[in-house]
Amino acid sequence: MDRTKLYRRFRTLLIANRGEIACRLIRTARAMGLRTVAVYSEADRDAMHVALADEAVLLGPARARDSYLNVERLIEAAKKTGAEAVHPGYGFLSENAEFAQACYDAGLVFVGPTAGMMTAMGSKSGSKALMEKAGVPLVPGYHGDAQDDATLAKAAEKVGFPILVKASAGGGGRGMRIVRSADELGPAIVSAKREAKAAFGDDRMLIEKYVDNPRHIEVQIIGDSHGNLLSLFERECTLQRRHQKVIEEAPSPTLSPAQRETVCAAARKAAGAVNYVGAGTIEFVSDGKDVFFIEMNTRLQVEHPVTELITGIDLVEWQLRVAFGEALPLKQDEIRLNGHAVEARVYAENPTKNFMPSVGRISTWRLPAETGGLRIDAGYREGDSVSPYYDAMLAKMIAWAPTRDVAIDRLNRGLEESDVRGIVTNIPFLSALITHPKVRANAIDTGFIERELAVLTSTASAPGELELCAAVAAVINEERQAAQGGAHSPWQTFGWQPVGRRQRSFVFRVGHGPEQKVTLNYGSGPSTLVIGERELAFTIAPKDGGFDLTLDGVKSSVAAVIDGHELYLRTRNGRFDLHWVDPFGGETEEQTGADKIAAPLPGTVVAVLAEEGAKLEKGAPILTLEVMKMEQTLRAPYAGVLKLIKCKVGDIVQEGVELAVVEPSGE
Ligand code: ADP
Ligand code: ADP
Ligand code: MG
Repeated sequence: MDRTKLYRRFRTLLIANRGEIACRLIRTARAMGLRTVAVYSEADRDAMHVALADEAVLLGPARARDSYLNVERLIEAAKKTGAEAVHPGYGFLSENAEFAQACYDAGLVFVGPTAGMMTAMGSKSGSKALMEKAGVPLVPGYHGDAQDDATLAKAAEKVGFPILVKASAGGGGRGMRIVRSADELGPAIVSAKREAKAAFGDDRMLIEKYVDNPRHIEVQIIGDSHGNLLSLFERECTLQRRHQKVIEEAPSPTLSPAQRETVCAAARKAAGAVNYVGAGTIEFVSDGKDVFFIEMNTRLQVEHPVTELITGIDLVEWQLRVAFGEALPLKQDEIRLNGHAVEARVYAENPTKNFMPSVGRISTWRLPAETGGLRIDAGYREGDSVSPYYDAMLAKMIAWAPTRDVAIDRLNRGLEESDVRGIVTNIPFLSALITHPKVRANAIDTGFIERELAVLTSTASAPGELELCAAVAAVINEERQAAQGGAHSPWQTFGWQPVGRRQRSFVFRVGHGPEQKVTLNYGSGPSTLVIGERELAFTIAPKDGGFDLTLDGVKSSVAAVIDGHELYLRTRNGRFDLHWVDPFGGETEEQTGADKIAAPLPGTVVAVLAEEGAKLEKGAPILTLEVMKMEQTLRAPYAGVLKLIKCKVGDIVQEGVELAVVEPSGE
């Protein structure tokens, strides 16, 4: 194919994606003087990427296949807006050869490799055959065409258990089964095929030696249409959960300079085998000694920013220049590795509830400034809604520093300074993960998170004296500010009214923990706080996002956010979520809202566990929902009588719909 027809200069770029990657692409496209066109689904009308682009086109209903995966609508959107090129981002249609071809047929530049290259490298089997020919080391295994049971069984026997059965068309860790003995093989193939057929419409399998507790190492490469091909060092993405990356870093702290050169050379060879054009990633697993090719991703990767931070190269700029038909601006020996970068993927999910996705409105979105080596690629803002239709990734936080240790510290500080409310996020989990001594020591493998889950998700420590005093200070600080301005503050009803009062008591609780009381003494002379036997003098100096609290002569910085009766605090001891128990009984009213027995996400009722009229203890199971393929049991929020069940087994229920009513007993 004549590459000058494929790659040429353009002025308007359509971005066929959403979320953080769409926003990130718009940023660079705009810096290069391009006009940008966003596309969106009905669920994303008010999304950040729509607001950032110069123009935006509605594709259709929320479901991805009616919108972001609809090739015809995307091509139409490009025509309607005069877009001359399409960037697919990652996920969605980014590795779909038919989409790349459809763009070409419509006269659009596809920012990426040709459809032919995607077909060659897109299947894991096909790419392994190519790599074998090019002399790139593979995980021992079988990737032939014959798919009958006998052939697969013989191949497994030959490779030796444990093995991995993997969908050739797979992605996102799906269609993959570990098989430890011959008798497990048959059932594993059946279920992997079923999953692959449903997810990718293709159930061809390959067999690989299962490398026990491996590391994941991958190399960023980029090629232009003039035959130049560069490797931009490697990334280590060993911290995974269910074969999905969670933390990524560059360079790999595991490789020696000689090993680095070997793996990068293997990656160049791999991409060279198809005269690759565009950005791509060659993925390897390593058993600590050798590295073995597993697959190539023919697109920009989620974790590309860590490579950008250690090379100083904007990969999206280079992708666009390659799409313009330009030659790559640097030679291999001009690519320099500088410092270390670590990325954390921020998800709307609840690590303490088996990583159940969390949807809803983001009421607070406070992330630190992008200074001091910190970069944040976000797809959401305060007030945005997280819908259940797409990937739950909200943002990526990336830290750069001259050394790995400092990069980890900077990332951790960035995570600790973040406050996202209204939905549950994995931010505290990410903090716990990157500060784990074994992560710091790089004593990890791909099974690390699963093994350490209990430690990584253990709930926050109990508040100490500093936190209890800070909680009172936060309330007072908020009330003072409300008194100075906000007439409708919820604090007004029982607010700061010093006149004629000498003492005020506050009761706080963390989760279902014990209630803890703090008494504030004020009037003539300096105010004090009393906890048990201790009486402490204090002062508060408000500042942005919180205040300085001086307690018995020691000043410390406290970040505080108050949301209804929930207090979020960050002190020198970490983060604390406290509930302020309302002394005026506002509690009951608020709790009915919060404790409503409602579907947390759209789901299906799979079991009803209690009968109408039954007396329920607090926590008694009422019904079970299947939500995003996971079962969740809804329980009585307090002791009472089950007045009403508003659903039956088999019902499909929408998010927020009330499913049962419990009348509290004993009031
Ligand atoms: P890999 O794990 O092979 O590196 P990546 O993690 O780079 O793959 O990203 C691919 C995945 O990102 C897709 O399989 C999809 O689940 C997810 N994804 C797709 N589109 C988006 C998006 N707009 N925002 C967040 N995640 C997305
Ligand atoms: P996907 O397309 O879903 O990204 P990959 O082949 O890249 O599929 O595998 C995803 C992850 O599964 C890898 O990052 C690695 O952690 C693990 N994995 C893949 N192949 C092997 C193997 N042969 N042995 C051990 N772990 C593997
Ligand atoms: Mg992969």
